[in-house]
Amino acid sequence: MYDIIIIGGGPGGYVAAERAGARGQKVLLIEKEYLGGTCLNWGCIPTKTLLNSAKTYAHALHGERFGVHAKEVTLNWTEAQAWKGEVIGKLRGGITFLMKKFGVEVVSGTAELVDKNTVKVADKSYQGKNLIIATGSSPAMPPIPGAKDNPKVVSSTGLLDLKEVPKSLVVIGGGVIGVEFASLFATLGSKVTVVEMMDEIIPFMDKEHAPQLRKALGNIEFQLGCKVEKLDGGTVHYTAKDGPKSVTGDVVLMAVGRSLNVKGLGLEALGVDFSPKGIVVNEYQQTNIPGVYAVGDVTGRSLLAHSASRMGEVAVSAITDAPEKRQRMRYSAIPWVLYSNPEAAGVGLTEDEAKKQGRNVVTATVPLRNVGRFLAENGPTAPGVTKVIVDKDTDRILGIQMYGAGVGEMIWGGAALIELELRVHEARELIFPHPTTGEAIRDALWELH
Ligand code: FAD
Repeated sequence: MYDIIIIGGGPGGYVAAERAGARGQKVLLIEKEYLGGTCLNWGCIPTKTLLNSAKTYAHALHGERFGVHAKEVTLNWTEAQAWKGEVIGKLRGGITFLMKKFGVEVVSGTAELVDKNTVKVADKSYQGKNLIIATGSSPAMPPIPGAKDNPKVVSSTGLLDLKEVPKSLVVIGGGVIGVEFASLFATLGSKVTVVEMMDEIIPFMDKEHAPQLRKALGNIEFQLGCKVEKLDGGTVHYTAKDGPKSVTGDVVLMAVGRSLNVKGLGLEALGVDFSPKGIVVNEYQQTNIPGVYAVGDVTGRSLLAHSASRMGEVAVSAITDAPEKRQRMRYSAIPWVLYSNPEAAGVGLTEDEAKKQGRNVVTATVPLRNVGRFLAENGPTAPGVTKVIVDKDTDRILGIQMYGAGVGEMIWGGAALIELELRVHEARELIFPHPTTGEAIRDALWELH
């Protein structure tokens, strides 16, 4: 009998396994494909590895400003893909090592729930006192006529494995995944068009920053407020505000969201409360069935790797800690990062969201070029700002939104300010290293009145 059986070896499942193993629990982790899940194998890591190749290429092409003259700069896609494979391989090996280190037993195969203490893999049954479901999500294919079985249409998984850089790419969906791929291939010279149904890309981004970022992304055509009606090979037909239009690509990326992996698991047999929007959980990641927990994308609460991992930790705390010590999942300070070129990031509320909540909002915005390191490394015309959103009545920091080179590495600091519920006068006392781009946050805090 295991203390905990975990289904799914993504960042939700394997981090839960690691934490539980470290606490001396007898843990079984079941994974049907590769340890690391979507994030490591078809998501966060491969996209960021290729985006880094693209950013390095762009730096080499535009180094003159910094006195660097490179001739005949080329990007070898096959080599970039090989590097992506190497990174994934090393990190997968790292997870295998951690599972061994913490005594986690790993079984390869598809798990099916039999009852709340029994899980079946092929013809073998495993018994556990607690279950953590961490089955994640998969690319969604909307019922757009002509999309299904169309050889020109790929999901994010298919796009990552392209054998060559396409001359033209149409991206359906202007969310994080769509914009990251648009940025990647536009940097590598593809003609890229993004068709998005909403009036703006990245719906949770600051309303002032989103159009500025679109401009900063450069060579990408954005068709906003456009509904895709049908596909015909690589031609995407859509309705724009001024009538029907179409655009053709060598490849069409379908990036309209993710379906949560709730089917075929046996959730119905257990009576677990779920819908296509996810498995319903409380703040301790408990489902309605005692001893059954769910974490990560499959809960539909926050489709990010770091959220999944935190949920895994919270579930393990619920299982192993005394009731008064149990940790809770909180959603108010989860940072997000868009790893395009340039990047964008945010945490907490946007100015609009804070105003909608009826807060007495005050903001300060600092251009990143005002700080020494950003100017030195990016030049005087490089786009980028930091905006701090504060509740004037309580002096509390409500949100930090930013875009520009390197902001993805800064945002965790903003998350700490919000999570620790610091007031502006307290945060101003923190000392930031100089010169760093992060000083823009400190400058913005001092600009507030
Ligand atoms: P997953 O990572 O999906 O893992 C679930 C695992 O469960 C899978 O390995 C699957 O094989 C396994 N499984 C499913 N059913 C069964 C079964 N019945 N039996 C056994 N095993 C099963 N997030 C970020 O935070 N940052 C990023 O930069 C980022 N980039 C992304 C880029 C792309 C292109 C995509 C698609 C996603 C990206 N994400 C990013 C999202 C991130 O990948 C997910 O939020 C994260 O992987 C969710 O973790 P999870 O553990 O819930 O599920």
